[in-house]
Amino acid sequence: MKNIKDYSIEKLKEELIKINEKPYRAEQIYKWIYEEKVSNFDDMTNLSLELRKKLKETFEIKEFKIQKKQIASDGTIKYLFDVLDGNAIETVLMKYHYGYSICVSSQIGCKMGCKFCASTGIPFIRNLSSGEIVEQIMAVERDENIKISNVVFMGIGEPLDNYENVVNAIRIINNPKALNIGARHISISTSGIVPKIYKLAEENIQCTLSISLHATTNEQRSKMMPVNNAYNIEELLKAAKDYIAKTNRRISFEYALAKENNDNLEDAKRLAQLLKGMLCHVNLIPINKIENGTYQKSSNENIIKFRDYLNDHGIVATIRRELGSDIDAACGQLRRKALK
Ligand code: SAH
Repeated sequence: MKNIKDYSIEKLKEELIKINEKPYRAEQIYKWIYEEKVSNFDDMTNLSLELRKKLKETFEIKEFKIQKKQIASDGTIKYLFDVLDGNAIETVLMKYHYGYSICVSSQIGCKMGCKFCASTGIPFIRNLSSGEIVEQIMAVERDENIKISNVVFMGIGEPLDNYENVVNAIRIINNPKALNIGARHISISTSGIVPKIYKLAEENIQCTLSISLHATTNEQRSKMMPVNNAYNIEELLKAAKDYIAKTNRRISFEYALAKENNDNLEDAKRLAQLLKGMLCHVNLIPINKIENGTYQKSSNENIIKFRDYLNDHGIVATIRRELGSDIDAACGQLRRKALK
C-alpha cells in the first residue's frame, strides 16, 4: 500500500492518471486529508464510490500511534510515535511566544556519528518517508488540537542524507493546500553534507539552512564530527557561501559549547574570522550532556563571553534557550527508541 501523505500534489496527480482518474481529484483529496483531516477514504463524500474504492485499493492514510508522551516543566512535549512497522521515533513540540514549533526526525537512527549526540551509537535503520515526516506534524496537531507554525529538522537523523524525501516533505508542508507552513518557517539542519548543500541551493525553496559547525579547526571538528573527514571546514564554508549567494538567505551556524573543548576566546576569535562578512547568524547551544558522553556544558559565564566576543566583532550571535532538558527532549538528546 502507498502512503497517500508521501505525495506532493503534483505527484498525486500522476498517481491518479495511472489509475485512470482525473488529476484535479488530487485537489479534492488534499482538502479531505489536510483540511478536513479524515483518516478514511469512505469519509471523502464528494468522491464517487468507485473512486473511493480505487483509492482504498491503492493507498492508505497512515496515522501514527502515540506510544509515549512526556511533558517538561517548561511545557515542551516529547512524543514517541509508533510508526507502525515495529519502529518508533521521537518528535518534540516547543511553545514559543510566536507560536508552536516542532522538531521533526528525518531518519530512524543516524549514520553521522557525532560524538556529542545521543542519536549516535544506535544502529541506523532506515530513512523516513515524506509522509512519515508530514505525519509527525499532523499527529501532534491532532493530539494537542493546535496549528504548528514552525518546523525544524533537528530531531533524529541527517536530513540531507535523506535528501529526496525531506525536500518532497517540505513541498507538502509548505503547500497552502496541505500544511500551509511558510518556507521561511521551516529550517533544515545539517552536519555538513557539502554536495547536498549545493543541490539544496538549486531547489528554489526559501527554507532556512542551519549548519552544525561546532568547531573552528579541522582537527577539533573531526574529533567531534566524523563528517569533517569527508568535507572539511573550508569546503563547508564555500558551500555555505554558495547557498547564500544563490538564495539570498541568511544561514544559521549552530555551535554547541563544550567546556575546555571549543569554548575559549581563541575559538571565538577563529570563529569570527571564519564567518567574517557572511550573511549569517550564530546560534550558541550550551552542549547537553548525554549518557556516557565526554563533553561537559560550558559555564554560563563562558557562554556569555563567547557570545559577546562574536557580537563585538561583527557576528550576530544568540544563545539558544534550552527547552525540555528535564525530559531529555533538548538538542542532541533524542534517541531511536525500540518498541517492546
Ligand atoms: N543531523 C542534523 C540535525 C540533527 S541534530 C545536524 O547535525 O545538524 C540538531 C542539532 O543539535 C545539531 O546542530 C546538532 O549538532 C545539535 N546537537 C547534537 N547533540 C547535541 C548535544 N548533546 N548538545 C547540544 N546540541 C547538540
